[in-house]
Amino acid sequence: MDETVGRLRLVEAKVAAAAAEAGRAAGAVTLVAVSKTFEAGDIRPVLAAGQRVFGENRVQEAQAKWPALKAEFPDIELHLIGPLQSNKAKEAVALFDVIETVDREKIAAELAKEIARQGRAPRLYVQVNTGLEPQKAGIDPRESVAFVKRCRDVHGLAIEGLMCIPPADENPGPHFALLARIAGEAGVAKLSMGMSGDYETAVAFGATSVRVGSAIFGTR
Ligand SMILES: *Cc1c(COP(=O)(O)O)cnc(C)c1O
Repeated sequence: MDETVGRLRLVEAKVAAAAAEAGRAAGAVTLVAVSKTFEAGDIRPVLAAGQRVFGENRVQEAQAKWPALKAEFPDIELHLIGPLQSNKAKEAVALFDVIETVDREKIAAELAKEIARQGRAPRLYVQVNTGLEPQKAGIDPRESVAFVKRCRDVHGLAIEGLMCIPPADENPGPHFALLARIAGEAGVAKLSMGMSGDYETAVAFGATSVRVGSAIFGTR
């Protein structure tokens, strides 16, 4: 078996085990394979192995490699998991199936405009900066319930879930718990949380999708 596919299978098994351990249904957690910095040649075996959900953090990089792969595998589901600049909203709406990084009014407005113009509506998540880290994208957790409401009421955007990236040097559990609590208050169903180092913990805290890169594709 291809090495990458071997690691994919291991991550799938660990996600399933963590879900079972938490008393959650098999299939309650979607694995988003994060392919940033890897080329089509590295991604192809993972596609051949049946994986269809992928994450990229840069619009331009994704534009260079995914249109051809999407033409070949029409059921690919591509997630934008990196910061979105408003001048890239047009490209993001055209390419991505899920945009996980809605985090400010201007982006919400630009996305609403592009969705109306293109007649294509990616599913949307709000990114929450649970650790209040100044260098990190995401909305202040104290403002996030009101922001989700404004996305709906002011911009007409259906927000499906929340996403967070806990501080690298902290126990992620409290951050996952906070995200789950905000989702409950905001009335959104999906939780994108957990990366290579902490996805099993995230599943225990209710993640409905985990974003795993290096544990599948190797170190970047
Ligand atoms: C790169 C990235 C990941 C995957 O990180 P790994 O530690 O390689 O699994 C997940 N989420 C976001 C937002 C990322 O940028």
